Amino acid sequence: MEKVENVIIIGSGPAGHTAAIYSGRANLAPLMFEGFQAGGVPGGQLMITTEVENYPGFPEGVSGPDLMAALRKQSERYGTRILTQDVEAVDLSRQPFKVVAEGKEHFGRALIIATGASARYLGLDSEQRLMNRGVSACATCDGALPVFRNKELVVVGGGDTAMEEASFLTRFASKVTVVHRRDELRASKVMAERVRHNPKVAFMLNTVIEEIVGKEQVAAVRLHNLATQKVEEKPVAGVFIAIGHTPNTGLFKGQLQLNPQGYVETRGKSTYTSVDGVFACGDVQDPTYRQAVSAAGSGCQAAIDAERWLEAHAH
Ligand code: NDP
Repeated sequence: MEKVENVIIIGSGPAGHTAAIYSGRANLAPLMFEGFQAGGVPGGQLMITTEVENYPGFPEGVSGPDLMAALRKQSERYGTRILTQDVEAVDLSRQPFKVVAEGKEHFGRALIIATGASARYLGLDSEQRLMNRGVSACATCDGALPVFRNKELVVVGGGDTAMEEASFLTRFASKVTVVHRRDELRASKVMAERVRHNPKVAFMLNTVIEEIVGKEQVAAVRLHNLATQKVEEKPVAGVFIAIGHTPNTGLFKGQLQLNPQGYVETRGKSTYTSVDGVFACGDVQDPTYRQAVSAAGSGCQAAIDAERWLEAHAH
């Protein structure tokens, strides 16, 4: 006889853990898979963040890893069993749903998807070749490395992440240039202003990176100004990619309704997906807000939706 869980949660960021805390407290004894999607560690994108300044209840800020450690402890306290394994496959066409991790099959009557989103890349061959050789998608993880100290660096992107990374990198670099493809930043005014006033930061707008140059290590970037058509090579020691995220929905393609950008579609204000008994919360279904606190909020909704659904579908 196969063991059937009440609820399986895939993902261990603020959404997954809040869903676990709520479903644990509802006596559902959830089983959680914490994978390695963001930065190679469980806990999601907050594990590769330094200071979280906008999570309510922490007036002095809290480090991303500390916040995730606290959420994890709270999940376990209410009976969540956590497996540190990447899920390899799911089958949502059967009930109970099937989840495969490390070759082993698990079954759940309800499924909560909280797999989050991952950093996007430019798509250049040179970017892949020089990954971790001067190319990084995470300033807070890599910025302090000796190869970047007192060197000129480039940050690509015009959003809040790019601003945050540029500002963080000025702690180590001699100069940071933000390269953005349009003449207008997408970042919030307050963050953009902070960076504009930083004497170590320069902006190159209407500009794209055509190529990252270097044999063993990044040596330069080839920049193309889209307004003037000028192409120039700029010597830099590092390229930090901060151009947004892609939802982690590869596992669900063809099984769940996704929007054109690949985010899981949820119904109305609920966390219901296109498959009855499958719920989604956090960044995997939210291209708009993408905040730790909004992810946590939707994790709570998913747990409540799942609990009510299970009750309505009790044998
Ligand atoms: P965004 O989607 O907001 O911004 C991505 C940026 O990258 C845009 O400027 C975009 O250009 C650019 N871009 C996208 N694709 C490419 C490409 N192929 N080549 C060149 N440039 C590209 O992502 P962020 O990660 O910056 O932010 C995500 C969310 O997280 C936002 O809601 C943001 O407010 C929030 N956030 C909040 C923080 C805080 O409050 N402390 C810190 C960090 C993020 P274009 O503008 O032309 O589309």
